[in-house]
Amino acid sequence: MYSVEQTGAPGLPAAPVRESGTEDRHRLLLQNWWYTTLIGTKRPIQPPLKDDLKCDVLIIGGGAAGLASAARLVGTGKKVVLLERNICGGSSTGRSAGFLTPDSELELSQLIRRFGATGAKDLWAVPVRGIERMISLIRSSGTECDLQRQDSLFLGKGSGGVRAVQDEDETRRSLGYESQVYSSGELASVIGSNGYSAAVRYKDTYGVDGLRYAQGIKGMLIDGGVSIFESSSVIAFSGHTARTHMGSVTADQVIFCADKLGPDLNPYSWNVYHEQTFLSITEPLSGTEQASLFPAEPFQCWDSDLMYSYYRLTGTKRLLLGGGSLLTTYARNDSTTSGVIGRVVSGFRKMFPALKSVRFMQYWSGRIDMTRDLLPTVLKEPDSPWVHRVLGCVGLPWATFCGDFVARQVLAEKETGDEKYYGYFDVNRKFLVPIWLERMIGKRLAFPLNNAWAKYYQKDAKPSSEGKAGGPAPSPS
Ligand SMILES: Cc1cc2nc3c(=O)[nH]c(=O)nc-3n(C[C@H](O)[C@H](O)[C@H](O)COP(=O)(O)OP(=O)(O)OC[C@H]3O[C@@H](n4cnc5c(N)ncnc54)[C@H](O)[C@@H]3O)c2cc1C
Repeated sequence: MYSVEQTGAPGLPAAPVRESGTEDRHRLLLQNWWYTTLIGTKRPIQPPLKDDLKCDVLIIGGGAAGLASAARLVGTGKKVVLLERNICGGSSTGRSAGFLTPDSELELSQLIRRFGATGAKDLWAVPVRGIERMISLIRSSGTECDLQRQDSLFLGKGSGGVRAVQDEDETRRSLGYESQVYSSGELASVIGSNGYSAAVRYKDTYGVDGLRYAQGIKGMLIDGGVSIFESSSVIAFSGHTARTHMGSVTADQVIFCADKLGPDLNPYSWNVYHEQTFLSITEPLSGTEQASLFPAEPFQCWDSDLMYSYYRLTGTKRLLLGGGSLLTTYARNDSTTSGVIGRVVSGFRKMFPALKSVRFMQYWSGRIDMTRDLLPTVLKEPDSPWVHRVLGCVGLPWATFCGDFVARQVLAEKETGDEKYYGYFDVNRKFLVPIWLERMIGKRLAFPLNNAWAKYYQKDAKPSSEGKAGGPAPSPS
């Protein structure tokens, strides 16, 4: 697998050099890199709940959504408690690649097809505002989370990729958003690969270490008077009271921002499934390697393949690379195989032969909660309107907006026109595969069908319950 390069320092064994087309998946360590970056951070893990408490607002789940809810409530005079099963950021938020971009699974052109220009603008504003909120929280709290300002580069592959790039550029311009297109001939100035056919670039996007973000915001919340209990899984909920193994919290208002809850804790669990993606990280790149990847400046990139790859440089100049496979994306359980990321790494090396010797060290995977049409679901329970739920947010900015939005509803601090999001995110919106059919064919098949339909064909009527909070009772699981 390895050849030996005769350039080692005198007296030392020569460094092994990877042959083209081989990859090091057998040497990859299965470990979330972001945990390593927590070493030396100031805040210790918060102890678990051991009492029976009363408060104004209880938040369940300390990912991007729950933390954004709590942040909105700081300084309002409300007594707030947050219960987190793991550590804050310990699920999707702290596993993520940390691309802060309005693009998630739904591109702008797809939103226009579904909702028309006005609806697409309403929905594009969600992640844009989510990003602004995250940046403002990072700055106001002084959170050190490797925040990198990096323009986005969506890279087309083949002739279909050229069309996808042109579509995205035209759509952005039609709605008044800036972007810049690179033809294949111009790409050499921005990316060190000749495997792409075109690209579109746009601004106001960032990279972040999601786990350090979560832990930093946790610190700000504690300083602001929020009671946070980690290692405190909610195991039962009834009325106004949530129970953990060793304690309970009774609250006037309850905001659920927890992932992967079963029907016992989430009567809307039928609305949520998940998709799985894999990440890997390298040793720091040398200056030459960085320049051969990004000749001018670092970007955050993803390509136009159905199973797309995505990559960016961290502040410590490590290359973070992600991707998935058709077999594991909708798998029911966590997959830990290194084969998937091994293939993503091999594909990357083919696109960037000059980086064939860069060593990937660790890999990890995560399942992202999502709904059938890739938009979140946000609701107040019709029969218990003090219970709020944020479900299936695909992307840190979406989760941040939704958590913040619900907290603003709790405070009744309504901004003009904002309640419309209850309509867009209504739990009873229409999907291609109805629930009765899904029960026969299973979520694993129904969700990809619904997801693909939402991405490529779906056209929506005006949101059903615009201006209303909540909706009719859900179908049973
Ligand atoms: C590998 C990977 C890469 C990703 N890359 C990106 C990216 O580059 N950019 C991007 O924007 N998004 C990315 N995402 C998606 C993004 O991470 C999620 O969409 C986002 O973090 C969702 O935030 P959340 O707060 O809704 O959920 P989570 O972060 O999952 O938070 C939910 C919290 O609830 C807690 N919880 C669950 N059950 C209980 C319980 N019973 N009691 C108490 N607490 C409970 C969990 O421990 C968890 O901390 C990625 C996700 C993964 C997995």
